[in-house]
Amino acid sequence: MKYISTRGGVPAVSFREVLLAGLAPDGGLYVPEYYPKVSGEQMAKWRDLSYADLSFEIISLFVDDILPATLKEICSKTYDSKKFRYRAPERVGGRSTGFVGDGNVNDITPLIWLGQTIRRGHIKPDSGLALLELSNGPTLAFKDVALQLVGNLFEYVLGENGQTLNILGATSGDTGSAAEYALRGKRGINVFMLSPHAGGMSAFQKAQMYSLQDANIHNIAIRGTFDECQDIVKSVAEEAPFREEYRIGAVNSMNWARIMAQIVYYFKAYLAATKDDGSVNFAVPSGNFGNAHACHVARMMGLPVDSLTIATNENDVLDVFFRTGVYRPRNQAETHITSSPSIDIAKASNLERFMFDVVSRDPGELCRYWDLLKKDGSFKVPESMRYVNPRIRSGMSTHSDRLETIKHIYKEYGTLIDPHTADAISVVHSGILRFPMIVMETAQPCKFADTVREAVGFEPQRRDSFCGLEDLPQRVTVMDPDVLAVKKFIAEHV
Ligand SMILES: *Cc1c(COP(=O)(O)O)cnc(C)c1O
Repeated sequence: MKYISTRGGVPAVSFREVLLAGLAPDGGLYVPEYYPKVSGEQMAKWRDLSYADLSFEIISLFVDDILPATLKEICSKTYDSKKFRYRAPERVGGRSTGFVGDGNVNDITPLIWLGQTIRRGHIKPDSGLALLELSNGPTLAFKDVALQLVGNLFEYVLGENGQTLNILGATSGDTGSAAEYALRGKRGINVFMLSPHAGGMSAFQKAQMYSLQDANIHNIAIRGTFDECQDIVKSVAEEAPFREEYRIGAVNSMNWARIMAQIVYYFKAYLAATKDDGSVNFAVPSGNFGNAHACHVARMMGLPVDSLTIATNENDVLDVFFRTGVYRPRNQAETHITSSPSIDIAKASNLERFMFDVVSRDPGELCRYWDLLKKDGSFKVPESMRYVNPRIRSGMSTHSDRLETIKHIYKEYGTLIDPHTADAISVVHSGILRFPMIVMETAQPCKFADTVREAVGFEPQRRDSFCGLEDLPQRVTVMDPDVLAVKKFIAEHV
C-alpha cells in the first residue's frame, strides 16, 4: 500500500514515511491510494478473533513495509488487557445496579448494551443502544487506542533505522496525556508538550501529564492560551533547518496511523453487535473528525454501516457542514469553551480527508476548495455531491442537553457517561432512532468530574490507581509564550 497526498503535490510514499512525517510536504494529508475491500466471508472469519489479532488483520491491509510477524507482535504488545483494563463493575457511580458487561477482560473495547440484563446466561440488549467503551486505556480517553499503537510503531521503526525523534505538540486536554503515556520511556523519542498554564484543562488532566517522571517527557506550561501554544508549535515546525536538525515530529490526528488504528474498533463493534450479518449504526462525538473519519473508511472498506451520526457541541462547524454543505472554520475568538472541551474546535482538520472522497479523489478539485477556504474563509459543497455516502447525519448539543443526557442515562440504566459521550447520545435521541445504535464512548466520566457532578449530584468513582493523582509531585516547566525560549529548551534537552 502506498500513500498519496490529498493535494496531489508529492509522489506516493510508504507507510513508514507517513508514520514519521505526519503532514505531507505539500500541506495535504496522507491517505491510502485505495481502500482495501473486506468481504462478508472475510468478516465472518474474523468473528472470534481477539482485539489484538483483529487489529493485525486490518492493519496489515494498510501496512506492507513492516514484516507481518513483527507487526503482529506490535499489535499484541499494544492491545494487552493490562493496558486496556476492563471495567464493567466500575461503570456504576454511586449505587450498585447489578450491571454486567458482556465483554471479557481481553476485549480492549467492550461493547456494553445499555439496560442489558443477563437472564440465564443470555444477553438481552433491552434498549438497542450500546456503548463501545474506547476509554479503558492508560489515560481514560479513546485517544489511547490509537496512540498506544503509534508509540510502539515509532519505537520499532526508529530503532531499526537507529534514528531519533522529538515530538513537539500542544494540548488542551486528552491528546497530550495520551501521547505522553504512549511514548514515556521509549528509546530514541523525546516528547515536548505545550499546554496553557492557566484554565482549560481539568485538574485531573493536568495531573495526568505533569505527574509523569520519565526523563524523556517534558511538560511545558505556557503563560498564555492554547492558541499561543499551538502557534509556537507551528512556528517551530515550519522552520525547516531547526525541524531537520532536531528531528521534530508530531502525533496529532493528522497522522494517518492514528486513523488507521481507529478503523479496527468499528469492525470490532460490528462483530460484537451482530450474529451473522445485518448492519449497525454508529454515533460519534466529533472534534477534529478523526474518529468519525475512521468510521467512514471502515464503511468504504465494506463494513455494513447503516448510518453514522456526527455529534458536535456548541462548536458546531461540522454539524453545519453536514446539514448545509457549508464548511466555515471559526476563528479562535468565536470558539466556545464548553463542558465537553475535547471537541471545542475551530476547524476540523481531518475533514480534508473526507472531502478528498467527496470530490472523487481529484486533488485538483480538492485544492480548488482549499483555495476558496483560504480566500473566503469558507466553501460550499453543491447538493449533487453531498455526499459519497448519504447516510451521514449530524446534530449539536448544548450544556443543558449534556447534563440532561448524563442524568437520563444514569437514571434509566444506572450507567454514568462522560460529557462527550453524552453529546453523541443527545444528538441520537433528537433524531429518528435506528437500531442497533452503537455510541462511541470517548472518555471515562471521572475525567470530567465537575460536569458529571452537576448532572447527577455526585462524583464518579475512580479506579484505585487514579486515587490521589492530583497530589502526586508534578514535573513541569513554566514559560512565557516565546518561540526562542521553547527552541532553546528543546535544544538543551534532546
Ligand atoms: C479527542 C476527543 C474527541 C474528538 O475526537 P476527534 O477524532 O478529534 O473527532 C471526542 N471525545 C474525547 C473525549 C476526546 O478526547
